[in-house]
Amino acid sequence: MKEKRVFIFNPGPAALPIPVLEEVREEMLSFRGTGMSILEISHRSKEFEEVLNTAVLRIKRLLNLNDDFEVVFIQGGASLQFAMVPMNCAQPGKPIAYVDTGYWSTKAIQEAQRIVDDVCIVASSKDRNYTYIPKEIPIDDNFSYLHITSNNTIKGTQWWKFPKTGNIPLVADMSSDIFSRVFDPRPFGIIYAGAQKNAGPAGVTIVIIRKDMLERIPKNLPTMLNYTTFVEKNSLYNTPPCFAIYVVEKVARWLEENIGGVAAMEEINRKKANLLYGYIDSQDFYRNPVQPEDRSWMNVVFNLPSPELEKLFVEEATREGLVGLKGHRSVGGCRASLYNGVPLEAVEVLVDFMKEFARRNG
Ligand SMILES: *Cc1c(COP(=O)(O)O)cnc(C)c1O
Repeated sequence: MKEKRVFIFNPGPAALPIPVLEEVREEMLSFRGTGMSILEISHRSKEFEEVLNTAVLRIKRLLNLNDDFEVVFIQGGASLQFAMVPMNCAQPGKPIAYVDTGYWSTKAIQEAQRIVDDVCIVASSKDRNYTYIPKEIPIDDNFSYLHITSNNTIKGTQWWKFPKTGNIPLVADMSSDIFSRVFDPRPFGIIYAGAQKNAGPAGVTIVIIRKDMLERIPKNLPTMLNYTTFVEKNSLYNTPPCFAIYVVEKVARWLEENIGGVAAMEEINRKKANLLYGYIDSQDFYRNPVQPEDRSWMNVVFNLPSPELEKLFVEEATREGLVGLKGHRSVGGCRASLYNGVPLEAVEVLVDFMKEFARRNG
């Protein structure tokens, strides 16, 4: 019997494109004539190496990365990058700088403080509960790098204009908005993104390293915590998360071939976000707390008139086949995650449900 699919607004792991899931199913018992599944073949086989190399090529094309950049796959999630970035990229005598936009960026800062003495929080939006993106970022020529979280998954804010840092490399946690919009990668020394929001399944982190950053890596790091290992061994020093990389390659292919690239994806994401924010702004049963120019297109947070109504909203939506709308446990409320894998149709159905729920409970 065929099971029914629901509309998935999960914050992560999150919705994947149907054509990707169908291909995975089709190839499950025998991958490219090997008679084995991707879960069973050697990571040293030519079939897997081709998957990995194609994934890297597609990511480079999608993000307009020239040959100054390396793309590697690392386990341990974005959370391990909170530590690997300062271990690899902090320079002696030069503070590392962070902007605190809440939750994940706060965690990145706390992790950095375990590793480096001189962590400088140059700007923060804590004063207004992280409902905006700081605009004045003081840059010192002496910083090792400036770290930002490009999209704040839990607070529902997103950077629409990256800080100008001159010669100081930007470092960005793009876990929840990579491939969702066009940007100029050149100012970024490091970009990292756990795959499970916009790029594939959990278990792999895409790390993009500008080659000049490799020069500053200390020689005494443990092998598996050193970016050089992953660059020099093409992410194959040890057994990589083969299945996750295989799905990332398919998601990247879907983006290139079915959607038409990141610019086309951005237009779809714009439509989805405009539809939902447009509705929220047109009435007063649902409220979005974020400063309008800093709103995230990926994670739309909203409140209803009471926590009781929010609970009922999530329950009824789930029954209607709209899942994942509960806000993060640290902030409460509701949240619709509109990642690349969420089609416009899902947002249309959500807005219709929201209207109907407001009519009954308003
Ligand atoms: C989900 C998320 C993380 C945590 O990722 P893990 O892969 O679970 O470590 C970090 N940063 C951002 C912006 C996220 O959205």
